[in-house]
Amino acid sequence: MTAKPKEKYPVVIVGGGMAGASLALALARQGIACAVFEAFAADTPSQPSFDDRTVALSAASLNILRHLGLNDNLLRAAEPIEQIHVSEQGHIGFSRLNAADFKVEQLGAVIENWQLGKILHQAIDQQELIDWFAPTKVVDLEQSSEQAELRIETADGDVGVKASLVILADGARSPLRESLHIDCEQRDFGTSAIVCNVATQQPHQGCAFERFTQHGPLALLPLTQNRMALVWSKPNEQIEPYLSLSESDFAKALESELGARLGSITKVGKCSAFPLVQLKAETLFRGRCVLIGNAAQSLHPIAGQGFNLGLRDVAYLSQCLGQVDDEDYGSYSTLRQYAEQRQTDREQALWVTESLARLFSNPWAPLALSRNVLLKGLDLAPFAKGVFAQQAMGFNFNNSELAANDE
Ligand SMILES: Cc1cc2nc3c(=O)[nH]c(=O)nc-3n(C[C@H](O)[C@H](O)[C@H](O)COP(=O)(O)OP(=O)(O)OC[C@H]3O[C@@H](n4cnc5c(N)ncnc54)[C@H](O)[C@@H]3O)c2cc1C
Repeated sequence: MTAKPKEKYPVVIVGGGMAGASLALALARQGIACAVFEAFAADTPSQPSFDDRTVALSAASLNILRHLGLNDNLLRAAEPIEQIHVSEQGHIGFSRLNAADFKVEQLGAVIENWQLGKILHQAIDQQELIDWFAPTKVVDLEQSSEQAELRIETADGDVGVKASLVILADGARSPLRESLHIDCEQRDFGTSAIVCNVATQQPHQGCAFERFTQHGPLALLPLTQNRMALVWSKPNEQIEPYLSLSESDFAKALESELGARLGSITKVGKCSAFPLVQLKAETLFRGRCVLIGNAAQSLHPIAGQGFNLGLRDVAYLSQCLGQVDDEDYGSYSTLRQYAEQRQTDREQALWVTESLARLFSNPWAPLALSRNVLLKGLDLAPFAKGVFAQQAMGFNFNNSELAANDE
């Protein structure tokens, strides 16, 4: 961590979670210096971005992270997804995607958030262009036509810092976004996700399971050391009863919703729950301040797209800034270009995720039937399967240089 902030930076990032830390590296790769102000020290267990959850990274996201220089460390800590199996409880319809069918080695990979945080921080520590300040909290933000000014709480008292561009990567509940009068569309699904790691009797063999059950979707993702990461959505009122189950009762409940695909559940790790709310900021910038990651949009985890979308924000914003001189970082034309480039990807991800969350959480019989037809159709129609796979791998919006494959 750098000792004391300078008076002025070309770029300030508020929030050094998954999106903010990735962006700092992407900017450094373009030769752009920045300061990052993050509320929690990297190694504290309470760090909210790099916690015990896991993240399923699409193939495009893996490319972006490789371009940021994380390759070797990432490969060691992440488990490849070689197959995706989608099914619905109580119905015979299912669909399977295999990496080999799309001539790729893996459809994506799964990593624990804290591991990703550790790897990002190792890379950041080697970057002279990144000034990292944590724990520090940005408590106020004002802007004029020339610059933005931030007030920051540090252990040594408040400091003021000026910036040409301020990037808000401070998560879904961003008070600074509110202070800029940026409204958000919000949908509360009335559900939460129970998250924990489990061990199963049979090895996962790189297969990710997405299972739609009567009470909501369940994802079981392959992890290193033959563990699996569970993300199990349930109505809010069912969360507490599930969290208070004994390990063996929890395992039985999971087995009955999952079916016998991997044999019995032999171990259940520490469970936690996250309320599921979808949020979309009405605009991606105001003045010299721009939003990325969850501050810009927050998704239901049904399709594992939240950070993947945030990482595409990172790729596009760093590309836009790399094309202009530093006096133009916070200019209207630069930020408008970024917002326009992000519009379709963002709208599509929000629409697909919300539709899936609604379609697969509704027990109404005709909808259940159409889900089943959809899953069967997906398995039989190669074109539909290809489109689905492109979406899952994140290649439907790969015209950023960072997301592209190295040839
Ligand atoms: C159960 C669950 C499962 C998920 N699974 C997946 C998945 O499989 N794939 C996927 O792509 N996505 C997934 N996601 C989404 C993913 O976790 C988020 O998209 C991602 O964490 C967003 O990162 P972020 O950096 O934008 O925001 P955050 O993680 O919220 O980080 C914000 C950071 O800003 C800091 N901060 C806040 N305010 C201030 C301030 N004023 N000053 C300084 N610092 C501040 C915070 O300390 C924090 O470090 C999942 C989400 C959930 C809830």
